[in-house]
Amino acid sequence: MYNPKSGRAEEFIDHQEILDTLACADAHKRDAEAIDEILKKARERKGLDHREASVLLACELEEKNRELYALAEQIKKDFYGNRIVMFAPLYLSNYCVNGCLYCPYHAKNKRIRRKKLSQEEIRAEVVALQDMGHKRLALEAGEDPVHNPLEYILESIRTIYGIHHKNGAIRRVNVNIAAAKVEDYRRLKEAGIGTYILFQETYHKESYEELHPTGPKSNYAFHTEAHDRAMQGGIDDVGLGVLFGLEGYRYEFAGLLMHAEHLETVYGVGPHTISVPRVCPADDIDPGAFDNGISDDIFAKIVACIRVAVPYTGMIISTREKKEVRERLLHLGISQISGGSRTSVGGYREPEREEDNSAQFDVSDRRSLDEVVRWLMELGYIPSFCTACYREGRTGDRFMSLCKSGQIQNCCLPNALLTLQEYLEDYAAPRTRQIGEDMIRRQLGAIGSDKVREMTRERLGKTKGGQRDFYF
Ligand code: SF4
Repeated sequence: MYNPKSGRAEEFIDHQEILDTLACADAHKRDAEAIDEILKKARERKGLDHREASVLLACELEEKNRELYALAEQIKKDFYGNRIVMFAPLYLSNYCVNGCLYCPYHAKNKRIRRKKLSQEEIRAEVVALQDMGHKRLALEAGEDPVHNPLEYILESIRTIYGIHHKNGAIRRVNVNIAAAKVEDYRRLKEAGIGTYILFQETYHKESYEELHPTGPKSNYAFHTEAHDRAMQGGIDDVGLGVLFGLEGYRYEFAGLLMHAEHLETVYGVGPHTISVPRVCPADDIDPGAFDNGISDDIFAKIVACIRVAVPYTGMIISTREKKEVRERLLHLGISQISGGSRTSVGGYREPEREEDNSAQFDVSDRRSLDEVVRWLMELGYIPSFCTACYREGRTGDRFMSLCKSGQIQNCCLPNALLTLQEYLEDYAAPRTRQIGEDMIRRQLGAIGSDKVREMTRERLGKTKGGQRDFYF
């Protein structure tokens, strides 16, 4: 029985409720009146529930779909301005005891080279990431209590935060590791992590169990209830995601929003981010083996629908997607992207040889961080390396209230400009620097308050003079 307040996965992601949602969406997919009502509600920028958003996803009326895309773009601008937050993944270890059928790290894969970074190797990777200009990392590791116990993850986080190379520093470490116990989340919180991210992969329980035949991850309930335990352990920024292609996308979409509603209902704060990966090629994984692959058009529509359904939630796209796809999705709602990524264990310091392949997936966007930064600015976006909210304790509902109060122009925008200035000073190629300087000059005028604009101008001057780490 569907119950968003329940702590049980099978009740807050109720299978029958998803089937009813899909039937309701089918019944209204050409119902202009009902779709107008939903779009009207979405324009209030307070979000939509999974049933309403599923109708928009199913909508077959071209004109209404155009309205949906325009609204998604407008909401994106209203809540995020033209900032795009930059991050990079850091793979610590690809040892894994699970049997996930879509991931090359699965325990039975004997072809892939198994690697685990030592603290010394992590230091070298982080120095290489800092030399690119990164300030925000997402730690990745397979699930293996012997090779990658929590102690190893915690030690790695301490190592990362402790490295200050030239003007570089990693200021926010997000963590994407297996479902854990409340006590473990408490320790991750104490270690100062930013967001805890865990992808559901699929919300369809039966498919989930088929796709995870062995290992601790095969426990659907333990996996699906992980974000609850993270919240109970004090982590109030959690990230959701599904792997599109494993199951029917409409099913996943409804499940994803039900999960977000559950967190909002129980903890008063929805997910900090939603990631939208698609199954892609990797070592012994052929995406063609999965029947539910989605086209670029459907993918764009999913992103637009998520944007209008949860306006305050950040949306992440990785280098799994190629440049053209990323560009299209940026307009519709993506607020965070990776750049210059390596998905192998230890690939930043020196590129991996082909015979040593340890990557989780093949990267489609192979541009350097500087190329991505320049490209974003040429498209009119401000690449932001800001981590201020996390460092100021503006997490969970405190972050959400900043978003909802519309203070972004006086807080996030100046912070984006200040961190971009740092990047331009310390890492940018000459042409990137020139484009960036022009952008900062133009964007200063968009800061809402005269006082904040003046303070930003002054701090930009100090940043150029060699001082670092100013933020609002
Ligand atoms: S998805 Fe995660 S748990 Fe599954 S095999 Fe890959 S690394 Fe292991």
